[in-house]
Amino acid sequence: MIAANSMRMEKSAQASQTSKRSPRLAIVGGGAAGFFTALTAAEANPGARITLYERGQKWLAKVKISGGGRCNVTHSCFDPKELSTRYPRGSRELRAAFHRWQPQDTLDWFAARGVKIKREDDGRMFPVTDDSQTIIDCFLRCAQEAGIERLKGVGLKSLTARSDGGYRLERTDGQTDGADAVCIAAGSLKASPLVRAIEALGHTIEPLAPSLFAFNVADKRTHGLAGLSVQDAEVRVNDGGKPQQGPILITHRGLSGPAILRLSAWEARALQEENYHFAISINWLGQTTENQVREQFNRLRKRSGKTNVTAKVFDAIPRRLWERLVSVSGISEDMRWAQLPKDQENALIQELVAGSYSIQGKTTNKDEFVTCGGVCRKEIDWRRMESKMAPGLHFAGECIDIDGITGGFNFQAAWTTGHIAGESMANP
Ligand SMILES: Cc1cc2nc3c(=O)[nH]c(=O)nc-3n(C[C@H](O)[C@H](O)[C@H](O)COP(=O)(O)OP(=O)(O)OC[C@H]3O[C@@H](n4cnc5c(N)ncnc54)[C@H](O)[C@@H]3O)c2cc1C
Repeated sequence: MIAANSMRMEKSAQASQTSKRSPRLAIVGGGAAGFFTALTAAEANPGARITLYERGQKWLAKVKISGGGRCNVTHSCFDPKELSTRYPRGSRELRAAFHRWQPQDTLDWFAARGVKIKREDDGRMFPVTDDSQTIIDCFLRCAQEAGIERLKGVGLKSLTARSDGGYRLERTDGQTDGADAVCIAAGSLKASPLVRAIEALGHTIEPLAPSLFAFNVADKRTHGLAGLSVQDAEVRVNDGGKPQQGPILITHRGLSGPAILRLSAWEARALQEENYHFAISINWLGQTTENQVREQFNRLRKRSGKTNVTAKVFDAIPRRLWERLVSVSGISEDMRWAQLPKDQENALIQELVAGSYSIQGKTTNKDEFVTCGGVCRKEIDWRRMESKMAPGLHFAGECIDIDGITGGFNFQAAWTTGHIAGESMANP
């Protein structure tokens, strides 16, 4: 009897050792974060048995369409503190995480696998091929070499904790699997069946809201000017909030461009509460003040009094937009600087530095779109990307309540969280 018991104990100790040496790892989501988690885990523990589940029919579908098909892999900002300021949600937690894995590590990782990445003037980084397929091919090749089991068209419906410390996974094809550790890397949790399971394991899902979208505007000041852009504008939501600087693009439906997308990210929750009906003010001259414009107009009155006001004044403002702003300020086409009445001058200055625009809805930008909200950051141990409530449950990527502005920051968050999750899963 005693002998049988001790044999059982020995066997269970051996099983536990085997499980530690070659843990069974399940990674849910075949996107950027899922692949990076899986590849990191495989490297950290070549004995680990890794399965990657993807509910869709394509691996890395978002990587494929990202950055207009070029994949803006990361951003050339190598200081964790500065880098973290590009994240409207998750800045504090990511700052520490970037000390573990930051854009330079991403570049080195790809370089070591033969993928060269270049920097563009604005700091965005793309594969030199300008083709997102390069990134996909690299991931697929590495996953193949690492022996990662990949199940396409197989989603995870639910997961529950097992009494032995692992997890039971319920698949969409009716089968069940077991795993010692699980990483949820399922992207946006909007309409995800996993929400209920994650909540049942003790987690809170912060309210989900779209981020990075363009604004719908029906306004005579921009009507018919689609395609025009101003490089150094400033935009803010009228009732407060941080102004955002950068290019603004006039589109068929309203306004887009980096400054608008950034504003949509920083104000994502507030704008959702307003049901995307709100007012913004635009300074088409960036940070130029009302007084500076007034001084310039005074000089024009003195030095170019006979010149028509409609003649282009500011290099930064395209001619057709300038003419439109002049016209909506009530200034006739033949008005000269010397004759310009004060109230019309004031109206024009107002249009230039603080034009108020009423936004009526949003348009998902075709280039970029992410979800803010997701698994509550405080409930995750960021040193391991592991649940504080459910040991062995990890999170990576967009399913967490983190999101960045445009420029490669969202993928960098996926690489960073995926790297940390992969390392800790591989070595429980
Ligand atoms: C059009 C577009 C362009 C973009 N361009 C850029 C860019 O250039 N640079 C940048 O930094 N960011 C960009 N982004 C944002 C970036 O794509 C995301 O931040 C990033 O993809 C998040 O990675 P993820 O792995 O967390 O999620 P995803 O890439 O969304 O991957 C999650 C995967 O999980 C799968 N999944 C979901 N639920 C389950 C389930 N229950 N079971 C199994 N599988 C499941 C999904 O099908 C999906 O394939 C862009 C986004 C869009 C939409």
